[in-house]
Amino acid sequence: MQILDGKALSKKIEEQVTADSKKLKQETGRVPGLAVILVGNDPASQAYVGMKKKACDRAHFYSVTHEMPEDISQDAIEKTIEMMNDNPNIDGILIQLPLPSQIDTTRLLELVAPNKDVDGFHPYNVGRLTTGLDGFVPCTPLGVMRLLEEYDIDVQGKNAVVVGASNIVGKPMASLLLNANATVEVTHIYTDDLKKHTLNADIVLVGAGVIDLITKDMVKKGAVIIDIGINRASNGKLVGDVDFENVAPKSSYITPVPGGVGPMTIAMLLSNTLKAAQSHA
Ligand code: NAD
Repeated sequence: MQILDGKALSKKIEEQVTADSKKLKQETGRVPGLAVILVGNDPASQAYVGMKKKACDRAHFYSVTHEMPEDISQDAIEKTIEMMNDNPNIDGILIQLPLPSQIDTTRLLELVAPNKDVDGFHPYNVGRLTTGLDGFVPCTPLGVMRLLEEYDIDVQGKNAVVVGASNIVGKPMASLLLNANATVEVTHIYTDDLKKHTLNADIVLVGAGVIDLITKDMVKKGAVIIDIGINRASNGKLVGDVDFENVAPKSSYITPVPGGVGPMTIAMLLSNTLKAAQSHA
């Protein structure tokens, strides 16, 4: 069994992004810029935005966070997005999700200029991903593919079972795997007998947000296990969706939580923002 070390790889990627960004500045005078919209006081959202800001600082990117109160109007957020769309110093716009219930999230995601959509959530980029065209790909599944690549884990012809079918994790994960010629099954909360599906998988990729959803009896020996979940256990520790202790010995490769997919997500955000800046230069 080998641990897929997302922490080490993300550091390597960050160093490359920082070097490429320096080169871009030397050649064009352009510094990659990221704008983040953060609404309300959700501690998890605040923590994620804090991590993204720190990563931008490490890579010498320009970044700005628009903090808005919980009761902000749709109109006010839309105006901010439009302003960022028009701001030449901003290459990437990120709306930290989830948003309060009075806000129409879909409308906001569709308002972000597709060439600044570094989260890859705009339907334009979703369409490009599903048709296998270049565009912005959501950071978490992109980070998973990069991690598999780094460890020479070829997904072509493999049975990949994705657990969780959200727009930001499961669905783009499935598209990327399909584009890489895996045989893909997508499972979710309504899937009958999850174990029947995961037992057949060469690669299990789980992002459901349920502690210990994947147990050792649900995976075949030698499977690759990618744990995308991030949950707070009752003892306060961060854990994934996989019963790591018991599943790890049965796997060929496995991601830890923390230190697996999480840091890769941040590294891919920097990488997407640099890509946007390069295209705007
Ligand atoms: P979500 O709630 O939008 O979607 C969860 C998905 O899991 C749904 O499709 C649901 O049907 C499925 N699901 C829920 N319970 C299930 C069960 N018992 N069996 C099978 N499927 C089940 O959540 P999300 O935003 O996609 O996030 C999923 C998890 O990934 C969360 O733990 C989140 O914190 C984590 N996450 C991690 C990163 C990262 O950087 N590592 C990034 C985004 C999300």
